[in-house]
Amino acid sequence: MKVLVIGSGGREHALAWKVAQSPRVTEIHVAPGNAGTALEPRTRNVDIAADDVPGLVRHALAERIDLTIVGPEGPLVLGVTDAFEAAGLRCFGPSRAAAQLEGSKAFSKDFLRRHGIPTAAYATFTRGDFDPAWVLAQRAPLVVKADGLAAGKGVVICATAAEAVETTQAMFDGRYGTAGERVVIEEFLEGEEASFIAMVDGTHVLPLATSQDHKRLRDADEGPNTGGMGAYSPAPVVTSEIHERAMHEVMWPTVRALAAEGTPYVGFLYAGLMIAADGTPKVLEFNCRFGDPETQPILARLRSDLTVLCEAALDGRLSRVEADWDPRAAVGVVLAAGGYPDAVRKGDVIHGLEAAARLPGKVFHAGTAMRGSDVVTYGGRVLCAVGLGDTVRAAQKQAYDLVGAICWDGMQYRRDIGYRAIARET
Ligand code: AMP
Repeated sequence: MKVLVIGSGGREHALAWKVAQSPRVTEIHVAPGNAGTALEPRTRNVDIAADDVPGLVRHALAERIDLTIVGPEGPLVLGVTDAFEAAGLRCFGPSRAAAQLEGSKAFSKDFLRRHGIPTAAYATFTRGDFDPAWVLAQRAPLVVKADGLAAGKGVVICATAAEAVETTQAMFDGRYGTAGERVVIEEFLEGEEASFIAMVDGTHVLPLATSQDHKRLRDADEGPNTGGMGAYSPAPVVTSEIHERAMHEVMWPTVRALAAEGTPYVGFLYAGLMIAADGTPKVLEFNCRFGDPETQPILARLRSDLTVLCEAALDGRLSRVEADWDPRAAVGVVLAAGGYPDAVRKGDVIHGLEAAARLPGKVFHAGTAMRGSDVVTYGGRVLCAVGLGDTVRAAQKQAYDLVGAICWDGMQYRRDIGYRAIARET
């Protein structure tokens, strides 16, 4: 069986690495991939951009790809799955219509409200109907969100209503390009965040192992928001009670409602949740794909064959398969380039990858490229070092031992990934 993975980040390296473990798979292509995916067994990078939908379809047809797994949201929102299906190809990911759940925050908020699925109270505005007086009458803090895809940057938490008005206006003025033509302003929710990620086949929901990510740049969850500085699995914040509530109050109603509206959801479905003190899960956002960096620790724990699970989902048989998990914990620490999350420096030579490869655990590549025989930085988040252990603390130690072997000019990382889970362990 030949598998195509679309994307070039740490998530896609973990997907390709996991697929390469399947005895059914003879060849893996990654479009466009990174320096790490090129090194996995039976795996090669193909020079096609993740959002070049016609190019991807042509490649999959020419190479007789049996299964395609889509990593990032961009191609999904562009309709890559629809294009593959129209060409008679099997592609695991939601249709363009279902991917609106991530592609438009206004769409997803209206969807949640229509179906009574818990989420923060909100209003949606365009420049034409913006009502600053309404905003100034709301209780702060307020959260202002650009409607469209903004590479994880389109969310601003505003301490005052006046700041929310200013932020909204800046979005209308093009701070996030066309993504900010519509803006959602919502109530600030208190609680602890958790990610809930599942595979969905249109009808059934197969929850994956629980995880939690760390979005802030600096230790103790300080500093600016990022794409994610690390993640671990399992996440004790998702107790069995919260798991149950998230399935009953969020995942099943969402999947049922999408099917009822004629846009059945097939693919990874990621709900970002805020868990209130009383255990109520409210949806902060949906993502229409696996999380990055959650994928790296979650897949490090998956024992089942990922291709079998994806095919079961494409056949609507997810209720008849189970995912088998390594009982150990996994911790993934992101190593970012100097300057991240703002302007990042590219082209720094990464040292120590060979030494790290001799240690237990796994270093996934994200923003890396080859320059001659050197692996160099090529993006904001460069690597993700994943350790496993009987406890989160032990997994954390293994991950930081990997980190200790690696260096480049300007490398930055958090030193406390997993601290909430470790606090619960002790
Ligand atoms: P989002 O991309 O919508 O998940 O937002 C990014 C981050 O902003 C989330 O992970 C939360 O930390 C924060 N956030 C978003 N919406 C809210 C909210 N309504 N209340 C509190 N924090 C929020």
